[in-house]
Amino acid sequence: MKIICIGRNYAEHAKELNNPLPTKPVVFLKPASALLVNRKPLYYPEFTQDLHYELEVVLKVAKNGRHVQPAFAADYYREIALGIDFTARDLQQECKEKGQPWEIAKAFDGSAVLSPFVPIDTVNRQAIEFELRKNGQAVQHGNTKDMIFSFEDIIVYVSRFFKLQMGDLIYTGTPAGVGPVQIGDKLEGYLHTKTTVKHLLSCEVK
Ligand code: MG
Repeated sequence: MKIICIGRNYAEHAKELNNPLPTKPVVFLKPASALLVNRKPLYYPEFTQDLHYELEVVLKVAKNGRHVQPAFAADYYREIALGIDFTARDLQQECKEKGQPWEIAKAFDGSAVLSPFVPIDTVNRQAIEFELRKNGQAVQHGNTKDMIFSFEDIIVYVSRFFKLQMGDLIYTGTPAGVGPVQIGDKLEGYLHTKTTVKHLLSCEVK
């Protein structure tokens, strides 16, 4: 199983970090050891002083494929979840300045929180609303209609480079409002389904 992540997929978030808008999806990977089961705490890593949350919609790849054509891309996911792409922003900044890869800032143990999945039919798939609350305060509110690259665009693009395999996860980017966490913070993710707002994700920083 691999974890594929997309960066800078929401214009307002690219702006808040002073990044240019991408013309192609920005892609990076996390290893399976980055996964943090929902409701397990993240222990604040000793190598960073600026750990940030990024709430994202996560796709579970439903079948194997490479070079997926646009007309078939929607068949490659049937379930979505919420995830947090934890980022050591200070290390990431250093990597960016030196033109180095991001893995130590993005792919460390516990950096990929994953909620339970819900069937894609239970949400408005053209405009999925999701929210993050930190200690009960709303900090991020996203809508997938604001993505620069749609789920289908992402599947078409990444499958040119990586064979998609059943069970792979795709973190599809974070909306504006990212920020730091401190020890003791509680992060909670909410997904708007067609009928209700579901409290799907929960993670405490210890
Ligand atoms: Mg991210």
